[in-house]
Amino acid sequence: MICKEATDLDYIDLRSDTVTRPTEKMRRAMAAAEVGDDVYGEDPTINRLQELAAEILGKEAALFVPSGTMGNQACLMAHTQRGDEVLLEEQAHIFLYEAGGAALLSQCQTRTIPGENGILDPDQVRDAIRGENIHFPRSSLLCLENTHNRAGGTVTPPELMRELAGVAHSAGLKVHLDGARVFNAACAAGVPVSEMVDPVDSVQFCLSKGLAAPVGSIVAGSRAFIDRCLGTRKILGGGMRQAGILAAAGIIALEEMVERLAEDHENARQLAEAIAEMDPFIVDLDTVQTNIVAFDVDPEWFTAADFLAEMGKRGVRANPVSPQRIRLVTHYEVSRANIETTLEAMNEVISSW
Ligand SMILES: *Cc1c(COP(=O)(O)O)cnc(C)c1O
Repeated sequence: MICKEATDLDYIDLRSDTVTRPTEKMRRAMAAAEVGDDVYGEDPTINRLQELAAEILGKEAALFVPSGTMGNQACLMAHTQRGDEVLLEEQAHIFLYEAGGAALLSQCQTRTIPGENGILDPDQVRDAIRGENIHFPRSSLLCLENTHNRAGGTVTPPELMRELAGVAHSAGLKVHLDGARVFNAACAAGVPVSEMVDPVDSVQFCLSKGLAAPVGSIVAGSRAFIDRCLGTRKILGGGMRQAGILAAAGIIALEEMVERLAEDHENARQLAEAIAEMDPFIVDLDTVQTNIVAFDVDPEWFTAADFLAEMGKRGVRANPVSPQRIRLVTHYEVSRANIETTLEAMNEVISSW
């Protein structure tokens, strides 16, 4: 055995699905990967991953990038011109958590639209798109996020994706999907991922989250768009060499880790339903659609940080998302038994408070 098994941890890690370590099979594939210089397009394993990803997504071409953030930013750079306006949901990852990259790298103005649980309304998007006027910036890009991270893993259904993209396209905008967890979205919606991303011009998804690869994301779109992304990725320092070592794990992620995401969703559901019964917590069960459980903590009881410090002593790790809100994320290293243990620990902390 060349790596530790999923059951070897002496704690339960619900902080994020990014904590997933590569599987044994990924490690073997990485060790054996055939490689070449990818800046010359000569890494056969990267080429295979890109072709596989494009095929699964139903797009002409795909590109391997080191991170989701770089993937999103490379796409923004390829879609926009300096001074353009980019429309986003107000809690979007691209807006909140990418260090102002849209302003710095693409020199775009961002315009946020409040969604309901992270989900945009087509009429609001229509109203936010600027008309032709010398005073206005040019609206050039709509960014969607599915599943929506900050809203707790909520899913924009495929029909709504189509409607939102239709509104943008009919006004001449392009549409980018921050699909870091788009496989979770497709799984929850019960559609192939290709159907989910069909209406958008570009998509970024993470291999390194629920799909358990150690590093990397994919961006996909038309051949011409991906050719532009080759340039923007290079500007961002994302031109890699024998990175087939990493892509090898990405191939396993796509071949073997997609089907099982439903288990993570079931585990999240079980966790949420039990937490909903606990006095100090308020869970909106309607928002628990995938592998994230976000819930409020009654300030009469404790703060999120104080509660989580006690959980930490009992071997359960999780993060607060604000002083009175906690987020738990399920993934392949969290078993059904771990869910039971987590709930026992939560009950113990509450009853001893
Ligand atoms: C994690 C995440 C990203 C960024 O991915 P990194 O690989 O961490 O840079 C982008 N968008 C969403 C919605 C995410 O959850």
